[in-house]
This record gives sequence, structure tokens and C-alpha cells, in this order.
Amino acid sequence: MYPLSNLHTHTNFCDGKYSPEEMVQAAIRENFVSLGFSGHSFTPCDMSYCMLPEKIPLYKAEIRRLQEKYKDQIEIYLGTERDYYTEHGEFTDDYDYMLGSVHYILKGRRCYAIDHAESEQIDAVREVYGGDWWGLIRDYYELMARLPERFTPDVIGHFDVITKFNEGGRLFDEEDPVYKNVAMEAMEAILPHCRLFEMNTGAIARKKRTTPYIAPFLLRFLKEHGGEICINSDCHDWHYLTCAFDMAVEQARAAGFTHAKILKGGRFEDVKL
Ligand SMILES: [Zn+2]
Ligand SMILES: [Zn+2]
Repeated sequence: MYPLSNLHTHTNFCDGKYSPEEMVQAAIRENFVSLGFSGHSFTPCDMSYCMLPEKIPLYKAEIRRLQEKYKDQIEIYLGTERDYYTEHGEFTDDYDYMLGSVHYILKGRRCYAIDHAESEQIDAVREVYGGDWWGLIRDYYELMARLPERFTPDVIGHFDVITKFNEGGRLFDEEDPVYKNVAMEAMEAILPHCRLFEMNTGAIARKKRTTPYIAPFLLRFLKEHGGEICINSDCHDWHYLTCAFDMAVEQARAAGFTHAKILKGGRFEDVKL
């Protein structure tokens, strides 16, 4: 059996629904090997979902407390999901690991969230790109490609989250070679700096998609170019801690992966799929 772990977990310190301790207790009930917390780093352009600077030390202390309290039952890791637009100055040395994600396109004075609402993507396309979806897509993947210039994450978070509202291709055509090439080029640019990408089932839990990120053609590309995967639920609610993990494992195997990474014994370890 695939050993259960999740490195992408949110709590009520940011935009999650439950406390870290409630998430830990759920993971113990599910027989998890390890659970990593990835509270959203501070992004000044949108304070609605992230951890404000004064909250971050409290978050760190609480995860460390739980790590100690539950050490005989589960391995707990203190991480963060750092956004492209997080200020350089945020102190990150004391995290056990870091996810790196792109959640925004910043244009002029407006910050367009990529993954909050379909309407924000549509606004960006209309207001910034004159109705051209390729403009938004190119800018999104360009930020992704340039993420390692800002910082080096351990894991790339939801690499193709721009497809969140595109179930069935209703906003743009993911089969178009233009789309595929832009995404693959970004992946290729990241790979020398970070080889570990997550498969993320969060949008399935939120009923926005029926399949995990990253898309099968990108998974195959990742495999062919020496990348690695971990499987995460981007969990904001403990009911969905293992949401669609079976499907993710199946898709990873179909793309040629035989192993995935989990955090175990203080480092990233291969586990058999
Ligand atoms: Zn995210
Ligand atoms: Zn997240």
C-alpha cells in the first residue's frame, strides 16, 4: 500500500478550516506516516488568505509543539507555501521544507488571483490582455519559470493551477500545442533548480476539477526529464486529507513513475507507488 503522507496542508492560521491539532488527529486516524503543514506565506498584495507577519511565529510554535506532542504517533513537519510575490525578507531558515507556488499575476495596481475564482481570471484576460487567454497563460508560466530566481523551493506547488477553472476546456484549449509548449518550457526551466513537483488533488476536493494537477502530458514530460513527484491534497479541511490519492497514484503510474517522495525521518524518501 502507498504510505500515506501529505505535505500540503492549510489550517486556520491561514485559509484552512481547522486547527493544526485537528488536522494532526485526522491524519493519525488515517494512519499517516507523516503530515507537513504549509501555511501560506505573507503576500502584501492580498492579505485575505495568507498568514500575517505577526501570526507566523505563533504558527511555527504551534506546529513545533504538535511535533513534540504527537512524536510517537506521526511525523510532523513545519513547512510553508511560499508565493512568488512573498517579500524576500521573510525569514524561512527554520522551516523543514518549502513549497513554491504562483498564485497571482500582478499588473499595475491590481493583483489578479489565479486560483481564487474563475471571474478573476476572466477579469485579467479582459482588462490586461484584451481578451487573449494566451497572454494570461504565457505570463503565468513565465512567473512559474522564474520562481527559482526568487527562491529555491523543495517542491513546486500546483504547477498548472491556471487550469483550475478549465474543466472540459471551457476557457482555453489545453490540447493546443501552444499551451503544451508554454507549460513544458516553464517546467524545463525549473527542473535544474527543483526536481520535485507535487501532484495536487485540492481542486477535486473543491469540486472544480475531476483530475489532479499536474496534467498527464506534463507528468510524462516530468518523468522523461528526470523529475520526481510527491502526492498532496492541498488540504484545507481534514475530511479531504486523502482526497483522490488513488487517482493520483494511478495517473503517476500511467506516466511511468514507480516511486513518489514523502517526508520521512527528516528527509525526502522514495516510496513505491
Ligand atoms: Zn497554493
Ligand atoms: Zn496550498
